[in-house]
Amino acid sequence: MSGMFILIIGPSGSGKGALMSALRQERPDIVFPISCTTRAPREGEVEGQMYYFISREQFKQKIKEEAFLEWAEYGGNLYGTLRSEIMPALEAGKTVVREVEVQGARQIETSIPRERLRVIYIDAGSWEELEARIVNRAAIHTEELAKRKERFEDEITFKAHAFRVVRNFDGELEQAKVDFVQAVHDAERS
Ligand code: 5GP
Repeated sequence: MSGMFILIIGPSGSGKGALMSALRQERPDIVFPISCTTRAPREGEVEGQMYYFISREQFKQKIKEEAFLEWAEYGGNLYGTLRSEIMPALEAGKTVVREVEVQGARQIETSIPRERLRVIYIDAGSWEELEARIVNRAAIHTEELAKRKERFEDEITFKAHAFRVVRNFDGELEQAKVDFVQAVHDAERS
């Protein structure tokens, strides 16, 4: 195995999506593996672009077949990265970049050799700043907000041991895109 698997971790609302889009544009040579999820597609989401949208039954079947490198439940839905999308690319020496939630990231850390794995953490500020952003974006229930806070506390544990922390505070997206592309470049060569 000679490629590098780069995991992107960041709280919901940290701007991972915008950074990943910028990276896709800049780096057509990178492999962006497609994951499976049981959640419904959002408006504008295309089957087979970011996700294969499958039923819970289909997902369970794939677990049985050991098709997943890791899988996890998040927000009541199942998410899993497919071995077939990742391992051949790593074997071929390619860079693979995927955003996952923390339970999945922990599983990947136990199954991919250390020297082939790098974590980039997207830092969008303190919980208070993130909370303000979430609340401004849409109406949200108190329980949901509490769940997000709990997740944030789990996610932030990755900041300390990440290969690189990319800062994406309000109004800094353009700089964050540049820093993110650079972080991936550095991770590949580390
Ligand atoms: P969303 O539903 O907003 O696309 O994603 C929800 C969360 O699931 C995000 O934190 C995202 O990083 C994570 N996620 C996306 N794909 C995977 C995957 O294949 N495995 C795991 N464990 N998490 C994923």
